[in-house]
Amino acid sequence: MDLLEPRSLDDALGMLRQHAPLMPLAGCTDVFVALQFGTETARRFLNIWGLDELRGIDVRDGVLRMGALATYTELGRSPLVWEHLPMLVAASREVGGMQIQNRGTLGGNIANGSPAGDSLPVLAAADAVVVLRSLDGERRVPFTEFYTGYRATVIRPDELIVAVEVPPVEGAQWFRKVGTRAAQAISKVVMAGVRAPRPRIALGSVAATVVRLPQTENALAAGSTLEEAQRVLRQEIHPIDDVRSTAAYRLRVAANLLGQFWAETG
Ligand SMILES: Cc1cc2nc3c(=O)[nH]c(=O)nc-3n(C[C@H](O)[C@H](O)[C@H](O)COP(=O)(O)OP(=O)(O)OC[C@H]3O[C@@H](n4cnc5c(N)ncnc54)[C@H](O)[C@@H]3O)c2cc1C
Repeated sequence: MDLLEPRSLDDALGMLRQHAPLMPLAGCTDVFVALQFGTETARRFLNIWGLDELRGIDVRDGVLRMGALATYTELGRSPLVWEHLPMLVAASREVGGMQIQNRGTLGGNIANGSPAGDSLPVLAAADAVVVLRSLDGERRVPFTEFYTGYRATVIRPDELIVAVEVPPVEGAQWFRKVGTRAAQAISKVVMAGVRAPRPRIALGSVAATVVRLPQTENALAAGSTLEEAQRVLRQEIHPIDDVRSTAAYRLRVAANLLGQFWAETG
């Protein structure tokens, strides 16, 4: 295997352009698992862990900006994330165990694109923007347009995720993950919600990608009862049976989570 060690972000972007294809390595918590199981065939890697340009959490003009290498531990301890995006604090504290939280990054969760990724419903409900950079410059992609299919994204081979930006979120934020046990469990269903005049609701593990629920959101915004909104939700999502759960269970839990979100933020 080959491992390239860039000294700066520009160096990394140059290597991606010159030596493509290279797989970026951040915390490696997904990549090592895939290599171990033989589902990852890449043999040439780019170590981005040391790139300070991809670290840091700050607020500029009211927009929360989190570097791609922000770990779950850093997110969970950041006063800025507590203030602006508490549902991401809640999600970060439920990812894996302490070791994974120390190593796993927000950028890795996004790029890996598992529909069960716990930060993804939060970013979808928060109308986040993914900042991508290549030697040609930066582009900003709304999170809801970032995935094109199961673990497929708009990232080009010469681009890195450098940061995620979240505009001010008005309204109570809510997050809940349902898994087999409290730690080290992958979500069977995961929901993030914002209780605004037009509520924003996103679900993970119920489709090939994380999904927003526009019809359910519209129903609630129009003053539907919770029961009506739960009926809309059951028609809006089409989960599947897989190794982790059944479609019937996921449908029922998703509707229950909507009820819990509504009761606890009302
Ligand atoms: C035991 C265990 C428990 C886990 N529990 C959970 C859990 O509860 N919830 C959850 O959501 N996940 C969980 N995970 C998965 C994993 O920890 C997360 O997805 C984590 O955020 C991945 O980040 P990373 O930095 O380790 O990514 P890496 O493994 O380094 O990379 C993952 C993918 O993203 C790409 N990538 C990384 N950074 C960038 C970047 N800046 N730009 C472009 N591409 C990039 C890589 O090339 C690779 O394709 C678990 C993993 C393990 C091993």
